[in-house]
Amino acid sequence: MSVLAENLSALNERIERACARSGRTPGDVRILAVSKNHPAETVAEAVGLGLTLFGENRIQEAKAKIPLCPGRARWHFIGHLQSNKARDAVSLFDMVQGVDSLELAAELEKQAGKQARTVPILLEVNVAGESSKFGWNPEALLAALEPLNALRKLEIHGLMTVAPYATDPEKVRAVFRKLREVRDRCADRLGAPLPVLSMGMSGDLEVAIEEGSTMVRVGTALFGARPRAAGRESAG
Ligand SMILES: *Cc1c(COP(=O)(O)O)cnc(C)c1O
Repeated sequence: MSVLAENLSALNERIERACARSGRTPGDVRILAVSKNHPAETVAEAVGLGLTLFGENRIQEAKAKIPLCPGRARWHFIGHLQSNKARDAVSLFDMVQGVDSLELAAELEKQAGKQARTVPILLEVNVAGESSKFGWNPEALLAALEPLNALRKLEIHGLMTVAPYATDPEKVRAVFRKLREVRDRCADRLGAPLPVLSMGMSGDLEVAIEEGSTMVRVGTALFGARPRAAGRESAG
């Protein structure tokens, strides 16, 4: 078995165990394979193992890589997106996770119109209020829901968050729980379900699943350490 195949099987076991502990079904937790800083060949190998969803956080890297990858791969943008890159994001990605401002949402709406498509999005919440991170403050998000929902070419599928780094994942359980609560309030306010909760990464995915994650974004646990320094993780 290749290293990637072994890692995937270990990841699936982690997901299954977390689901078993929390009475959930593994099929309800999707794996978004975070391929940033890894080459197209790695993506091709992952597609060969049955992975279909991939995440990238830089437009420039995605633009070079995606055309070299198998057409079956589906792509989510997972970083902070600058409005001036909305056009590329709409043409390259199936979903934009991490919509963190009305300005960006309006630009995505405009580009979606130009490219005659609708764009599924997730709204990024900065649950812990870290100054180093992008994302809505929960109360600000509730206040912005109406104008966001008025953008007819954007489909709000749910919320995403990047938890603070913690050596003990139990320390960030409250962050994941809060994201779920914010999601429930947003869904109430919109009168529509927001089924996707994108939360949990290599180090904390069990806790995220126990708190309701429907999509874990996994880089290191699948592909190993990233080949070159990622710099600012959330740069678009
Ligand atoms: C890099 C990245 C991940 C993956 O992190 P790992 O710890 O390598 O699993 C997940 N989400 C976002 C937004 C990222 O930028």
